[in-house]
Amino acid sequence: MVRSISILGSTGSIGRQTVAVAEHLGLRVRAITTNRSIQLAEEQARRLHPAMVGVTDEAAAKELRVALADTDIKVWGGEHALVEAAVISEADTVVTAVSGAVGLRPTLEAIRKQRRIALANKETLVCAGEIVMREAKKCGAEIVPVDSEHSAIFQCLTGREGELRKILLTGSGGPFRGWTREQTKAVTPEQAVRHPNWSMGAKISVDSATMMNKGLEFIEAMHLFSVTPDEIEVLIHPESVVHSMVELVDGTVIAQLGVPDMGLPIQYALTYPDRKPSRSDRLDFTQLTRPLEFFAPDFEKLPCLALAIRCARTGGTAPSVMNAANEVAVHKFLAHEIGYNDIYDSVVSAVDALGSVPTDDLQTILEADQAARDYVNQYFSK
Ligand code: NDP
Ligand code: MG
Repeated sequence: MVRSISILGSTGSIGRQTVAVAEHLGLRVRAITTNRSIQLAEEQARRLHPAMVGVTDEAAAKELRVALADTDIKVWGGEHALVEAAVISEADTVVTAVSGAVGLRPTLEAIRKQRRIALANKETLVCAGEIVMREAKKCGAEIVPVDSEHSAIFQCLTGREGELRKILLTGSGGPFRGWTREQTKAVTPEQAVRHPNWSMGAKISVDSATMMNKGLEFIEAMHLFSVTPDEIEVLIHPESVVHSMVELVDGTVIAQLGVPDMGLPIQYALTYPDRKPSRSDRLDFTQLTRPLEFFAPDFEKLPCLALAIRCARTGGTAPSVMNAANEVAVHKFLAHEIGYNDIYDSVVSAVDALGSVPTDDLQTILEADQAARDYVNQYFSK
């Protein structure tokens, strides 16, 4: 079992839940990071006594350095702080709970130091899944998923090498399931972040509403479990009780079920291959308020999901272009600068305009990511 950890993005939704799980399990936290939530980072630092706090925003880093001057906790500023936290000595596991492609570089560096990766940051695998998985194999670093669906699939597949026929990737369908484009036109950020079953950070909440999240998870699953797009079926399951399933070669289906609580997959990623008692609520089948339902997705009404599957099939730089374009568009939507339907319109425009080059080179991927960010900024500045 893991003894000490580093948490990238400790002030976010997954980060805060990771802190709670670490305290429950009695793990040492060696490093934490934030973008600019220094008040919470200071509270966490005083409680957890990490060796360092990374603060990406330089001005915020300066402020925190002053606030923590009475301690021996080191404060690192700038984007490189994420890498410092990822490779800090004595942490055997790095929980990647930052949001966005910014998680890629520190994850790769931690892999090269043979740390176990408890991977929440799906954007890392969407952008550079082949490179990340290849490095992990080469360096002997384990990647254990935190994303609830992937944790479910991981648990269903443990000990079943060569038996998988198909992954059944479930998703609730989000708050606007069944809505037409006309109906989603006026959706506000406040409505979009109100997910029916899960409480999450703002970016992933919007991704869950557009179902881009399921698309990102589709690509994440391809890389984590070495499967082709034809070996993944997306199923809408509004109750979020079944977290995903696998169909085996003989037709047997194995599912992982539980209450919708990210504390569970976070804890499993930290205790794997062991399992420990958790503080999570228990699933009581006699108290389910609705029958469990499963539907095929309506791709016409879920264009972001359809686009992500198209990019998964195209491969090369297409997924990183789509991911970066989506990050910029969602950020603008959350800032009330663009409408809800503009998210899909700008992302598909970026994907079509920038195309894809086949590559397994990190530099090419990072350039495609930047080109997509520039494209979407340009798209909305006209
Ligand atoms: P949040 O937005 O709640 O938190 C993100 C964290 O990353 C915060 O600590 C934030 O700092 C930090 N951060 C954001 N931008 C940067 C940046 N540019 N540089 C450095 N740090 C940054 O996100 P979530 O916790 O919801 O999600 C984190 C990751 O986990 C995402 O990849 C998401 O897809 C994945 N995930 C999340 C789930 C959930 O239930 N929330 C479920 C499954 C996967 P600050 O506080 O200063 O903003
Ligand atoms: Mg998920």
